[in-house]
Amino acid sequence: MSDTSEKTGACLCGAVRFTVRDAKHEIGVCHCSMCRRWSGGPLFAIDCGTNVSFEGAENISRYHSSEWGERGFCKHCGSNLFYRLVQSGQYVMAVGAFHDQADFKLTDQIFVDDKPGYYEFANQTRMMTGAEVFAQFAPKPPEGERD
Ligand SMILES: [Zn+2]
Ligand SMILES: [Zn+2]
Repeated sequence: MSDTSEKTGACLCGAVRFTVRDAKHEIGVCHCSMCRRWSGGPLFAIDCGTNVSFEGAENISRYHSSEWGERGFCKHCGSNLFYRLVQSGQYVMAVGAFHDQADFKLTDQIFVDDKPGYYEFANQTRMMTGAEVFAQFAPKPPEGERD
C-alpha cells in the first residue's frame, strides 16, 4: 500500500478550501472524453476516500455527469476540485488544487483506449482501458451476489 498523509488545497480564487485526512500519493490520470471535456485535458486526480472536509462548501457547484458520479468545481473561479462517486461518497480530488504536491507520483493511467493521439506521457505507469476500469470498480448491481 502507498503512504498517505494529511493534505490541504484550494481553488484558484480561494473561496473553496479543503483538507484530506488520508490522501494517497499515487496520481491517476484519466484520459476519458468526459474528463478531457471537463478539465480541458487529461484529468490528474488522487483517490482521497471519504475523509475530505471543505471550507466554503457553499461555493462548490456539483454537476452530475453520470448515474454514479458527480464533478465539483468552484462556482466563482471554475477550478475543478473533484470527481465523486455518489454511491460510496468517495472523493477523487484534482491534483492541481493541492498546495503541497512534493510526494505525489504518477502511477496509473485509465481509459487509455479513449486517449487522443496528440499526446503521450513518458512515465511508466499501470494502464487500464475503460472496460478494465468498469470491470474492477463499477458498483455491482443490487441483485448481484457478493463473493
Ligand atoms: Zn474559486
Ligand atoms: Zn475520466
